[in-house]
Amino acid sequence: MSTVYLNGIFMPMEEAKISPMDRGFLFGDGIYEVVPSYAGNMVGFAPHMNRMQDGLNALEIQYHIDQEAWRNIAQQLIEQNDGDNLGIYFHISRGTDSQRHHAYPDNIEPTIYAFAFAIPAAPEADKSSATPYTVATTEDLRWKRCNIKSTALLGNVMHFHHGHSQGHKETILYNNQRELTEASACNVFVIKNGVVATPPLDYQLLPGITRLILLSILRHEGSIPIEERIVTLDELHNADEVWITSSSKEIAPVIAVDGKAVGDGQVGDVWQAAQSLFSANKFSY
Ligand code: PLP
Repeated sequence: MSTVYLNGIFMPMEEAKISPMDRGFLFGDGIYEVVPSYAGNMVGFAPHMNRMQDGLNALEIQYHIDQEAWRNIAQQLIEQNDGDNLGIYFHISRGTDSQRHHAYPDNIEPTIYAFAFAIPAAPEADKSSATPYTVATTEDLRWKRCNIKSTALLGNVMHFHHGHSQGHKETILYNNQRELTEASACNVFVIKNGVVATPPLDYQLLPGITRLILLSILRHEGSIPIEERIVTLDELHNADEVWITSSSKEIAPVIAVDGKAVGDGQVGDVWQAAQSLFSANKFSY
């Protein structure tokens, strides 16, 4: 039985109830985060909370995250739920209204929900034991506020389904200029001749925390060159290596795109070097 947190109270998941008039349910009017933890140690807690506060501010939801209090909620969920590798999911919706009306209502309290769920063990930086991904691609048909980590995820869900229905574990997205944006639940990296390139942050993609941590680690260490720049679909199809990143996957190597092998179709050396640096430094964030 899992223990969850709802509006200030820890309780069994079966007892957690919210109103059907909650604007998160009716409109997807909310923000969420997923913070990974391994053996009780979280990765990137502060940047995750900073991004969540940015999202609340963008939606004008009047709530200030007390990071120490929220760290304590996360630690209690880790202690009260089984498993070494847990994602901590945080969700704030605008709250429950008495009517269904698009306008932001005054004077309602946000609904705050958190729970823990099992995530895969952190990847070993070893090509022979890596979990390789295959992906599809499709045009990104979402809205122009993909930088907000909104709970309104139907666009992402439909894009994920596009790849999943063909047997893939992700779908990489490109805009109408055939420039990569991200994947349905990950950021994207394309590697050519040892150089790692990833699309720059703007409204077309989520500012991923794994992306942030990886770029910071690579920049500090200095042996792997990185570029934040426009990356085209053609570059994706001609890459030596492709990676997708997210909090529950870290750096996942992609070995085939649209049924065509990436490079030699094997997990690459640059991936191994980058994942090794990530594994060694991630708990500093
Ligand atoms: N892009 C999208 C659309 C996502 O949903 C996610 C994670 O859920 C990411 C990128 C990766 O973000 P993070 O590294 O913070 O998990």
